[in-house]
Amino acid sequence: MHDFEYCAPDSLKEAIGLMATHKSSARLLAGGTDLIVLMRARRKRPELVIDAKHIPELTELKINQEGLSIGASVSCRTIYENDQIAESYPALVDSTSLVGGIQVQGRASIGGNLCNAAPSADSIPTLMVLGAIANVVSDRGERQIPVEEFCVAPGQTVLEDDEILVNVTVPAPAANSGARFLRFIPRNEMDIAVANSAAYVELDETGKNFRSARIAIGAVAPTPLFVEDAGAALTGKPISEESILNAAVIARDAARPINDMRGTVEHRLQLVETLTKRVLNDAVKRAIGEKV
Ligand SMILES: Cc1cc2nc3c(=O)[nH]c(=O)nc-3n(C[C@H](O)[C@H](O)[C@H](O)COP(=O)(O)OP(=O)(O)OC[C@H]3O[C@@H](n4cnc5c(N)ncnc54)[C@H](O)[C@@H]3O)c2cc1C
Repeated sequence: MHDFEYCAPDSLKEAIGLMATHKSSARLLAGGTDLIVLMRARRKRPELVIDAKHIPELTELKINQEGLSIGASVSCRTIYENDQIAESYPALVDSTSLVGGIQVQGRASIGGNLCNAAPSADSIPTLMVLGAIANVVSDRGERQIPVEEFCVAPGQTVLEDDEILVNVTVPAPAANSGARFLRFIPRNEMDIAVANSAAYVELDETGKNFRSARIAIGAVAPTPLFVEDAGAALTGKPISEESILNAAVIARDAARPINDMRGTVEHRLQLVETLTKRVLNDAVKRAIGEKV
């Protein structure tokens, strides 16, 4: 690995100043489970590594009636071990408990998962369907970016060189709503998704019809994809095999997968349809209070 400077600011103000001065020659280090790997492979060569695990705003986890705020450096393990998150946002537990193995989960953050912008990133589809907002800051001010607009290409985001992701905020779940995330990997753990899918549904008072839905898919396009049309197709529709299949087919048709060592185009398309049907059925179960 190349030589680099390391610093561990304990205030956001200091980190903002460092990023403003060093821009693209500095990179933030959260868990390091992507950054260190890429530095060792010489695919990233920052001159300054800024440890983001000592900045209070980035390590805070807040949950109240308004919703949830997850600091960018909060570890996956902290998220899936939180009882309130498990109760109100179980799809986040689905995602974070699948990232790597236990050692990786103790370091890896949702912020790093989002900023690394891998097409297969397991937390991003869930954040998309939950309507999460990425809150970003630099010495030029703050901005809020819907997670579905955050990733623009493999490994690339809308962040400017000097911007810091502070946290992601997720609105409180609506009444009669539920969400679910699933992925397919060829073995039980420690692999990258061949395809993944997340769904959020809100049902009407009868519990028999969809009021609204949001669907996102991953590892089947250059970025995780929010498939607005697939969710919109369920609005006002009865909960039925037919309406769920229709939404899953729309999600499948939005996918633009590639052939690689993990799977073929055909396999990935089939997986998107199957996983989307499953996440929709499970999200409905959660919306009516059943365990999945
Ligand atoms: C063995 C192994 C297994 C893995 N398995 C999975 C898996 O199953 N699913 C999956 O999705 N991923 C997996 N990963 C990838 C990785 O663990 C995740 O993407 C993880 O969430 C990255 O988080 P991190 O905190 O380690 O990020 P880091 O490596 O610290 O950072 C990642 C990128 O984000 C930038 N960054 C970090 N914080 C900020 C911030 N606040 N503002 C701006 N930029 C920032 C960094 O500069 C870097 O470019 C695996 C990795 C390993 C090594």
